[in-house]
Amino acid sequence: MNEMRWALLRENAKKPAFRDAAESLRRAAEEAAQLPLDIQDGEHGNWGHYYYCPDDAARLSFDLRRPLEHPCPVCGKVWTGEPFNGAWVSLRHSGIGTGIKKIAFASRMEDSRDAWRALVKDALLQYAAHYDSFEVHGDIPYNGPGKLFAQTLDEAHWIIDLVLAYRCIEDKLDEEARRAIREGLFRPCAAFLIAHKESQLHNHAVLITSAIAMLGVVLGDDAVRQAGLEGEYGLLDQLDRGVLPGGFWYEGAFTYHYYAFDSVLYYCMLVEYTDWELHYHPAFRCMFDFPLNFILPDGSLPRLNDASSVSSLFTYVPFYELAYGWYGEQRYVEVLRRAYGLAQEPVLKGERFSTVPRNTLHALLYGCDLEGKPHGNSSLAMMMATSYSSSGSGLTKLVLPSGAHLLVKISPFGGEHDHMDRLGLSFGIDAKPIFEDIGTTAYGVPMHYAWYKHTYSHNTVCLNGQDQPPVDAERIAFQNETWGSWVVSEADWRKRDYHLKNNITLPEAMCPWDEQAYRGAVVRRLNVLHEQYLIDVMAVQLPDEREIEVLYHMSGDLMAEAGDWRPSSEPLSRLAPELFENKRSKPLLPSDMLVWSIGGEHVFHAVWSSEATVLYTARTPDNPPTKRRTTVVERAKASGTLVMINVFGYGNQVQPEGLQLKVEADSEGWLLQLWNSHFCHEYGVSRELLLRSAAHG
Ligand SMILES: [Zn+2]
Ligand SMILES: [Zn+2]
Repeated sequence: MNEMRWALLRENAKKPAFRDAAESLRRAAEEAAQLPLDIQDGEHGNWGHYYYCPDDAARLSFDLRRPLEHPCPVCGKVWTGEPFNGAWVSLRHSGIGTGIKKIAFASRMEDSRDAWRALVKDALLQYAAHYDSFEVHGDIPYNGPGKLFAQTLDEAHWIIDLVLAYRCIEDKLDEEARRAIREGLFRPCAAFLIAHKESQLHNHAVLITSAIAMLGVVLGDDAVRQAGLEGEYGLLDQLDRGVLPGGFWYEGAFTYHYYAFDSVLYYCMLVEYTDWELHYHPAFRCMFDFPLNFILPDGSLPRLNDASSVSSLFTYVPFYELAYGWYGEQRYVEVLRRAYGLAQEPVLKGERFSTVPRNTLHALLYGCDLEGKPHGNSSLAMMMATSYSSSGSGLTKLVLPSGAHLLVKISPFGGEHDHMDRLGLSFGIDAKPIFEDIGTTAYGVPMHYAWYKHTYSHNTVCLNGQDQPPVDAERIAFQNETWGSWVVSEADWRKRDYHLKNNITLPEAMCPWDEQAYRGAVVRRLNVLHEQYLIDVMAVQLPDEREIEVLYHMSGDLMAEAGDWRPSSEPLSRLAPELFENKRSKPLLPSDMLVWSIGGEHVFHAVWSSEATVLYTARTPDNPPTKRRTTVVERAKASGTLVMINVFGYGNQVQPEGLQLKVEADSEGWLLQLWNSHFCHEYGVSRELLLRSAAHG
């Protein structure tokens, strides 16, 4: 960041397209300028996650004027003492950090604001005068300590803001002030963070090493910068090994993908126009691009692993202001135009994106005039509307012009945020989920560990009711055909190791799986999207007898209740029985056709199994956990090979009357016939594609 960047900031701020952005930066700076500073010796923050009501989990009302009283907006109780006072201290200083950063950038936007610059200088000098007195403390599980804060991560967040603020006013400071800030704040903070770097690939580690590298830059100390960038688990190593081939951050949740990315981009912003420029690192363009392949018709990104909220791609629009500013690629203009609601043809059936205002700091710093850019849909539209598979990053999307879309999780194990749901599916029609991965909720809500983080809450296979042990799934085949697309995936638990095994730290509490239940098991899954059908063929190969369950969690209700469903008291999985309401069961019969009502759509569901199978249904937690959806479990006991075939049909052309699924098996494979009085579709599945020939040799 240098005068060239400031010049664009000032220029943009005068243009009508950026009026909102300039106004919101000015307003944020004016508000932050009201914050009382008065930094003291011995400031001692506690974990911000403690600032919730212990009775009802509501976030407490933070009031700068009430450091010792913490009212709950829901039950009205006023909490006092620890950990609330300490959490209040952390929230206060995080707020000062972001506030000072805003004031500093605003002072570059409006050069005449000497008072703003003086405020930034004062804040930095106050922290520099007291930083030495802050005690190292913190016992947050799985996190290093902090000095001002209770964890290393929070210390890193805060210092990144202060480094950026300093860079904005550095050229206006006298040498004495510069030295005081560098030696009183930045140098000891760098030493502290270096001492508490994490020895693993992790989003926290990306943040901490980015902060160290940034401190090295403003200190003009290359040894500090290298301590952030280089070596095992340094920032460059995190990028090289933590970003999977294809561009997805290995933890396998889009939320963490962007979270890890954010801090590296601040480092890149700081060093642009210098010899250390990093934004041409090959990982970055892949990281910007990868999520664009998975935009759903409502503009959101799939919720995978510990994604604790629905996030619209446009939440991340500041990233694409940077991306276009740096690389000038057409697809980033398309992202921006869609995000800001500038005329752009819809691409997906049922597409309904909500737009966001162009009011961010990144827009001011990097933004270009979007009106003057070509309007055509090209590369982004292609990415959204075409089936896509990344074997390295482990996600495959099948999509049809009819509006059906399927996501298959064929990923490597993603560490502590993984949901142990290899070969899991998310299926939707237009913007309507049919069965999907629902991510999770806030980590403090009990359902997070009780339900969302287990195999059983996913649309995949479960053995003996236990969680899947870590394994790297593999894509066996993927084809785009003239008539649709298909993919074959595999999870092979005969493998003893997974790719990142020695590079991540897994706390005992996050290892709930059962090795025994999956020992020697190989599962292959074939998924086909064709016309109005999703075909799902699962082959499970086992060395000895297990209980096999194929699960779907339907976002609706079972309608036509064909056959004889009876109330059931059989346990489902090893999870808490109270998760399953209204349990019923029936034996699977060849003529069974389930009909689901999902958001006004009828979905027909035929099931075939090579072994005697019992169907179960139950009402189970949706997200938010107060909602329910209908889980259907297809349970069989088998050793050797079990094949389970599910066909889902939807849309006007599928008539349920007399619809039948017939399956014939011979030495070559399986012939699926889907027919009624009007039509017959035939699909052949070869044995070679579905079975591992040397499975137990
Ligand atoms: Zn409360
Ligand atoms: Zn999940």
